[in-house]
Amino acid sequence: MGGESLFRLPSFTRPMTKSPLSILREHYGYDAFRGQQEAIINHVIEGGDAFALMPTGAGKSLCYQIPALCRDGVAIVVSPLIALMQDQISALAQMGIKATAINSTMGMDEVKTARQQVRKGEVDLLYVAPERLMMPEFLSFLENCKIALFAIDEAHCVSEWGHDFRPDYAALAVLAERFPNVPRIALTATADAQTRIDIVDRLSLNHGRTFLGGFDRPNINYAIALRNSPRDQILRFINEKHPDDCGIVYCISRRKVEDMAEWLCAQGIEALPYHAGLESDVRARNQQAFLQGERVIMVATIAFGMGIDKPDVRFVVHMNTPKNIEAYYQETGRAGRDGQPSNALMLYGLEDAAQQRQWIEASNAPDEQKRIQHQKLSALLGLCETANCRRQVLLNYFDDSCEPCNNCDTCQRPPETFDATIAAQKALSCVYRTGERFGVSYLIEVLLGVESERVEKFGHDQLPTFGVGQEFSKPEWQNIFRQLVASNLLSPTPDGHGGLMITADGRAFLREKPPLPMRHYEKPRKRTARALGSANSPAVPLDAAEMDLLDNLRSLRNELAREQKVPAYIIFNDRTLIELAQKRPNRLEDMLDVGGIGSSKLERYGKLFLDAISNHELSA
Ligand code: ADP
Ligand code: ZN
Repeated sequence: MGGESLFRLPSFTRPMTKSPLSILREHYGYDAFRGQQEAIINHVIEGGDAFALMPTGAGKSLCYQIPALCRDGVAIVVSPLIALMQDQISALAQMGIKATAINSTMGMDEVKTARQQVRKGEVDLLYVAPERLMMPEFLSFLENCKIALFAIDEAHCVSEWGHDFRPDYAALAVLAERFPNVPRIALTATADAQTRIDIVDRLSLNHGRTFLGGFDRPNINYAIALRNSPRDQILRFINEKHPDDCGIVYCISRRKVEDMAEWLCAQGIEALPYHAGLESDVRARNQQAFLQGERVIMVATIAFGMGIDKPDVRFVVHMNTPKNIEAYYQETGRAGRDGQPSNALMLYGLEDAAQQRQWIEASNAPDEQKRIQHQKLSALLGLCETANCRRQVLLNYFDDSCEPCNNCDTCQRPPETFDATIAAQKALSCVYRTGERFGVSYLIEVLLGVESERVEKFGHDQLPTFGVGQEFSKPEWQNIFRQLVASNLLSPTPDGHGGLMITADGRAFLREKPPLPMRHYEKPRKRTARALGSANSPAVPLDAAEMDLLDNLRSLRNELAREQKVPAYIIFNDRTLIELAQKRPNRLEDMLDVGGIGSSKLERYGKLFLDAISNHELSA
């Protein structure tokens, strides 16, 4: 008897907690952590607070999901978009991780079930919107549960300096007081230095650690072009670079969204509209079609996109300038989460800046904030007009840096520049002498010496600047004025009537007359230089047989997704399918070497995909 019990002794009574790395391998199917993931995860597991700033696609979700599995209790994930919670939960379920949500779209019974699961510790993660979390009754409920951690996703919403301020987020500060012993981790992909400080402050994360990931998204190609024939430009871009891809086209107004979506459809392109003015069921339907589709283009206002983590969005187009670099970075960041080559194209014109300035002035923000918004807009215009690498300008804005990237339009087709010192002097002097109240087209009439009715009416044909600018054409002057605004030597008058005035920098320029390199005016091109090929191609190109197999694997995946009514990428993303097509594993255990296949997915789908691969080989 005694001898027998000795043999049983090695079964330790302490429950085995899994290590973060074994969870990564088993549930997620990845070999190793990337960047700061491991440091963040360990810090939170040990109970520390954290603020993590990592670019889109860097893998933020793991940073709270893995600690949720390692720590006792349930992790509360604060997420702004109820509509996307279900997808996140389905994705976790596919990996064998138990999560649920409580939100206003659920019936009373569902909420009750979810609450029971949370109380009994049957789920590892609970997704809630900030409004729900802040309800006094809900906070009391949580105080009676075992909480592993709080994760605050899209944390830039906390800050008024950020670009998506949501008042409900500001209330999250109370978590620090109500749950002093529960670690909190805030995550975002975009926040400039000022916004970062504000987030840490507002969420009382001052005693925690800040983790800054690099900002670069090397797989995104950035291009910014003048908007001269918007419909042509977008159509050519889609046809040449993305005939078979998913993408987002941002427009400035609801009406423009509807026009553009309709027009693209008329050109035979599957495009759906999305803006806050649509009925909520239409919005939900279009969003679902986009998430589940393989070649759907979403034409949208910026109301669309927050929390969208579809990994295979291949392009983002801005039909107008966004309001600042952070917004641009956040919006373009929705392309290429899977790390595959993707494109970000912005079209802009001077009227965009005037419009944005008018909006800033019309808002009820305090003056100090308006001033900052103007500065941020100027930085964005600087990005538009730069003759340097776009990525360098972008990264510098976030205090990061890189070498010229060779993956942006200015690197690939360097713009020619000329010294515009004299031209700028003429332009500024014309602005000054006409009283700092006229718009660009009038100023150009004066510079070119056009004897128009209005010029004569104001007597400006008598000015010394009348006709001094005839060495440039009208479009060339427009080009110069745009760059003068972008470099903040001129700025629109605050009344919003489109007049221009000289800034303090402009006056300094007139005193010092330093060299002023500017981009040459480029005639609108009839055709873009060359199609770069579909951006969806993997790093190592597939041969014909592999492409064929990939098609089969895609159909299988899509069929499974339809059966389960989940987005296709939740089953396997494109990257995983490409790797499967290239490696063609023929044993189940070999499939674990493929990125994105952990034991849970292996069990669910391994056999099916293995069969698809061997059938394909038989028929080939
Ligand atoms: P974010 O929220 O930062 O945009 P996600 O958490 O959605 O990023 O992750 C982006 C993609 O990268 C997902 O497909 C995710 O599964 C994958 N990923 C995350 N961490 C790793 C890793 N360590 N190795 C490989 N892929 C990873
Ligand atoms: Zn570059």
